[in-house]
Amino acid sequence: RLKKGRALAQDVWSIYNVANLPADCINLGQGYMNFSPPQWIKDAANDALATVVANHYSHPKGRIRLREAIRNYYSHDFGRDLNVETEIVVTSGANEGEPYDFVHLNQYLIQEGDEVIMFEPFFDQYLACVVFNGGVPVYVPLHPDMSKDKPTGDDWKIDFDELRRAVTSRTKIIIVNTPHNPVGKVFTRLELEKIAALAEEFNLLVLSDEVYDTLVFDGKEHIRFATLPGMWDRTVTVESAGKMFAATGWRVGWLIGPSWIMHPTLAATTRIVFCSNSPMQEAVATGLEQVASRGFIENQLQEYTERRKILTDALDKLGAKYTLPEGTYFLLLDISDLKWPEDYPFPDSVLGRGRDFKACWFMAMEIGVSSIPVSEFYCEEHVDIGENFARFAFCKDTETLKRAAERLQALS
Ligand code: GLN
Repeated sequence: RLKKGRALAQDVWSIYNVANLPADCINLGQGYMNFSPPQWIKDAANDALATVVANHYSHPKGRIRLREAIRNYYSHDFGRDLNVETEIVVTSGANEGEPYDFVHLNQYLIQEGDEVIMFEPFFDQYLACVVFNGGVPVYVPLHPDMSKDKPTGDDWKIDFDELRRAVTSRTKIIIVNTPHNPVGKVFTRLELEKIAALAEEFNLLVLSDEVYDTLVFDGKEHIRFATLPGMWDRTVTVESAGKMFAATGWRVGWLIGPSWIMHPTLAATTRIVFCSNSPMQEAVATGLEQVASRGFIENQLQEYTERRKILTDALDKLGAKYTLPEGTYFLLLDISDLKWPEDYPFPDSVLGRGRDFKACWFMAMEIGVSSIPVSEFYCEEHVDIGENFARFAFCKDTETLKRAAERLQALS
């Protein structure tokens, strides 16, 4: 169990923030792009700003044009004609897609002491959201098999007996994140079916964070949890324009789910932010309306495949061990062998944490490439798993990744 204290502690993103790192450090830490959204989407944002209405409040559910674009884009995937009035809520980002609306959701569904199961490593915002709402996080680690020559996300396995043992009479929610940040694992149908069977047996709600669903490599299939038999009515799917359109600062995301969950979520959203950023919603609507005709998702995936290759080629050249991501723009480097001088001057913020906190600091300072320590995404009892890994984000232009790749050769 973690106390609220950890959720109130300094977050990993601000410790490894560019503001604290040398100016010439290449930032592969926090997952955001060093390139803009496509021009045609930025043009749509400017067009929206030029109108009067798009500069003002939107409906708390989201602008109708965006909700219709969401319905048209996702209905086929979900195998149902999504209802724009009752089954879609636009949120302030996928942090509103990941944590923020998740907070709203939890405010209504979690009572003091209720338990929420999350797989480790977990995106850090989940923990804070559960804890802030009086819930109790329960951790089920994915078990990496790093003995393999070339491990992939699929080599991070769920122990289903362990998962079953984690369920108690207080369990309310299980959080699924596929493609998974930070492992890059794309959950298989079999894995998701087993989770679904537990959700059914113990009457659990499932929060399915699928914000990296447009970044699934090598033809692997992304399965939407809500489409598994019987799961629609107990699943909320979280999506993000930030990941889809390289616009993480726009703060536009959305939730898709059954009306009984969307209703209280909307009520909470309305009271906290009232509505999400209006002009950016219009721009994202244009994005969703035009992605298919522009072949945008396929092209973007191709670009990310090349970005991933720049990093993996560099690590292969080094003979380094890493987890090949099946999805997302994150890669976990095995840093268990990395060493630094005993008397290295680490700042207080990284002391007393897993050894990965030191490793990431050391690599940022001495090699000039920043990354994120993975033990942040584990409970204290499981830091020994996470501290063997540093997470590198490859949502950067190829020139930057090539420079990072060169610098990483210093790890040899
Ligand atoms: N999703 C981003 C990442 O994992 C970070 C978002 C945030 O900083 N809250 O890097």
